[in-house]
Amino acid sequence: MVCQHVESDVSIYHCEPLFASGEVVGLLYLQSHVEEENRFRLVALVENIASALVNQNLQKDLLEQTVHDPLTGLYNRRYMEETLNAEIATASRNNTELGLIMADIDHFKHINDEFGHDAGDMVLRTIANEIQNSFRSNDIVCRFGGEEFLIITKSHPLHTLIQRVEDLRASLSRLELHYNGRALGKTTMSFGVAMWDKSLSTETSAIIRKADAALYQAKKNGRDRIVVG
Ligand code: GH3
Ligand code: MG
Ligand code: MG
Repeated sequence: MVCQHVESDVSIYHCEPLFASGEVVGLLYLQSHVEEENRFRLVALVENIASALVNQNLQKDLLEQTVHDPLTGLYNRRYMEETLNAEIATASRNNTELGLIMADIDHFKHINDEFGHDAGDMVLRTIANEIQNSFRSNDIVCRFGGEEFLIITKSHPLHTLIQRVEDLRASLSRLELHYNGRALGKTTMSFGVAMWDKSLSTETSAIIRKADAALYQAKKNGRDRIVVG
C-alpha cells in the first residue's frame, strides 16, 4: 500500500501516525528506512510531537475562549478593555483618530418576552454579524454585555465614522428577522459615538463614559438614532 501523499519517485519511506487522546493529530513522514534498532526512538519522538501538537491546539482554543464571546463570536469585554487601553496610548502619543461607538438594541427585552430567549439569542448573533460586517478588519467589534456592543475604530475622522454608523443603523432597521416562522418585527439600535481627545483622561473609563452618555441621549431622544458625545 502506498500513501497518497507520497510522490512517485520515492521508493523508501516511513509514515508514523501521531496519536494523542485517542485520535490522529498528524503524521510523521520520513523519506528513509527506519532500522529496527531505531524503532523505539521513533516511537518516543512521535509521542513527543503528538503531545506538543495537542498542547498547542489546547492553548489556541483557550486563548480563543478568553478573548471571544461564545454567543456572538465577537471580542469580549476583557479583550476590549486591554485593546482600548493600548489604543488610547497610541492615539495620545501619535495624535491619531480614535473613536468609540456604544450600541444598544432597542427594546430588546420585548423580543425575549414575546418570542423566547432562543429567539433573542438568534437576534443577538444576527446583529453581531451585521455590525462586524459594517466595520473594517482593523476596527474592533466587541460584545460589551447583554445587548450592548462596543466598537473601537481607528483612523476614521468623525464624519466618516458617523456615515458608517448611519449606514449600519439604516441597514439594521431594514432587517426582517424571523424565528420558527414568526416575524419578529423591526429591530432597531441606538448609538453613542465618542472621539478620544486630549481633554479626556487616558483611563478607558473616560471615553467609555462619553460614548455611554451619548447613547443614553440617543435613547432619550427616541431611539433608532445616533448621538455624538
Ligand atoms: P432599551 O431600548 O432601553 O435598551 O430597552 P431594552 O429592552 O433593550 O433594555 P433592557 O436593559 O430592559 O433589557 C435588556 C434585555 O437583554 C434583558 C436581558 O434579559 C436581555 N439579554 C441580555 N443578555 C442576553 C442574552 O445573552 N440572550 C438573550 N436572549 N437575552 C439577553
Ligand atoms: Mg437595549
Ligand atoms: Mg442595554
